[in-house]
Amino acid sequence: MTDLFGELADLVLPSACAGCGAERTRLRHGACPACVTELEGLRPAWSSPSPPPPGFPPCVAVGPYAGALRGALLAYKEKGRHRLAGPLGALLAGAVAAIAPRDRPVLIVPVPSTRAARRERYGDHMSRLSAHAVQRLRAAGWAARVEQPLRALPKPDSTSLDAAARSTAAVNSLRIKPARISNPRRGAAMRGTLVVADDIVTTGATLAAAVRRLEEADMQVTGAAVLAATQLRRNCPGI
Ligand SMILES: [Zn+2]
Repeated sequence: MTDLFGELADLVLPSACAGCGAERTRLRHGACPACVTELEGLRPAWSSPSPPPPGFPPCVAVGPYAGALRGALLAYKEKGRHRLAGPLGALLAGAVAAIAPRDRPVLIVPVPSTRAARRERYGDHMSRLSAHAVQRLRAAGWAARVEQPLRALPKPDSTSLDAAARSTAAVNSLRIKPARISNPRRGAAMRGTLVVADDIVTTGATLAAAVRRLEEADMQVTGAAVLAATQLRRNCPGI
């Protein structure tokens, strides 16, 4: 019921823009016209942390972690503004489309949340975003679906760790769900363009760990799609 009330409140009551915090302004999906324009103007670009951790996949980011994109992501994740899942999912679809050819099935594998994070953050935010991205991709002609072979275990705060320790912690925090290992036919169904999806890439340790776990389970990863990169490298502007 909390979610339902949140939806209704967002419709009926004026609330601040999710992107910039402006109040008493007309909102579309929770964002003011200036932020909507900023979000719609973002163009996905190849992105890589510097230096990238070993095993970091080819990665496309919708934009830098700044401005309206940062505001919208925080409002969606930390304040439970679920209506932003639609526009943010559409942006994520744009990043996936930059990697995935239209003539092959595309499987989006969201980086999973821990149980504690799901409780704190109003549900599994990447799973929801990925579902919206799939809707957009299907509407644009892709055979797309979400697959969730990964689960997340609690991991220690990585801010004080060096790069190697952070990578180890990231790998140890991800597991392939047992059903995926015990049922080889399930693995066969995973063929297609497999894109790992996450909200923000910072050091790249989580994405590299996800790729490693998936490939250990014989799931070949084509690349990663993220909404925001804290260190955006536009090293291939041709997307
Ligand atoms: Zn705004």
